[in-house]
Formats: sequence, C-alpha cells, structure tokens
Amino acid sequence: MKIIAVGRNYAAHAKELNNAIPEKPVIFLKPDTAVLKDNKPFYIPDFSQDIHFELEVVLKICKEGKHIAEKFAHTYYDEIGLGIDFTARDIQADHKTKGLPWELAKAFDHSAAVSSFIPKTELPAVDDLTFELWIDGELRQKGHTADMMFSFDKIIAFVSQYITLKKGDLIFTGTPEGVGQIFANNHLKGSLAGHELLDFHIK
Ligand code: MG
Repeated sequence: MKIIAVGRNYAAHAKELNNAIPEKPVIFLKPDTAVLKDNKPFYIPDFSQDIHFELEVVLKICKEGKHIAEKFAHTYYDEIGLGIDFTARDIQADHKTKGLPWELAKAFDHSAAVSSFIPKTELPAVDDLTFELWIDGELRQKGHTADMMFSFDKIIAFVSQYITLKKGDLIFTGTPEGVGQIFANNHLKGSLAGHELLDFHIK
C-alpha cells in the first residue's frame, strides 16, 4: 500500500505557513514504512528539532482505479479515519528554500499515524465532518471538511490521473490551521464526528 497526501488543502493553514493558495492539489507520498497504527507511541527522531503535528481526515481506498471520474470517486472509498501527518518542519523549510523534494521531511518512519476506520455509512455526510485534535487536554486543531479547497472526490479524480489507486491505499486529505510542534510526553487525542479515534503519546 501507499499513502498519498495533500498539502495546503485548507486555506487558513496555507496562510499560516505563508504558502500560496494552490490552483491544483499539492500531492506527496509516504511509503508503507511510515504507518504508525494502533495508537502506538510516536518517538521523536533525532534528525529533527521541530516535528509538527498535522491532523487530517484519512480515506481508505476500497478498489483499484485510475482516471476516476469525479462523479464516481465516492465509490472508491468506503471507510474514513484520522491521521497525523508528522512533518519535520525544519527539514521541510530548508528543502523548500532550496527547491528540493520533501520526502525526508514527510516520509520518514512512523510519520503517518493512522487511526482505526469507520464505515462512511456510519458518519455524517463527507462534506460535513468535524475533526479535532487535543494535546494534553487543550484543543489545538479543529477542522471541518466543508472548508477543504479540494473535496475528497476532487482529490481522488485528480490523483488517479497520475497514480493508480489500489485497495488499501490511504489518502491524507490535508490539515486545517493550528499546526505546531510536538514534544516528548505530549498526549494526543483526535476525534472525527464525535468518535474518539486517536489516543497516543509522544516519546
Ligand atoms: Mg499534511
């Protein structure tokens, strides 16, 4: 499986990092070795002094497809969960300045914390999902899928023009504003439409 991630999909987040609002989705990949499951702890790697959390809604692809039409895109995912797109912001900032790719900042081991998944049928409409990240009891990020610049269906249609989607692939759909640094002993809790899905510690 692979992880496809969208950058800058919430305007307020793009602004907080001084990024332009994109005309097309900004896409990057994480390998399967990035997955961190079952609410296991995240260990801060020694190559970064500034690991950021980015809470995102995650789609699980349920069948293979390429060149998927936007109107059929909703049939390509049937479960939704939450993830943290851990980002080495110091490495990313350095690589952005130099025009280099982001992989070392985004694709390192365990940089994709993923929750359990909920069937779409048990959730509100996909454009009406509220999601929240609490750190040490404080609300740090609160997003709503209606604020996405590119909807789930638009992301799937766009990505599948370039990359075949396969069953089990995950799509991280972008983070709302409020990203920040994590520190050892932080306790992260994430909820999607009232379902508490993420509950793990930073070490
Ligand atoms: Mg992200």
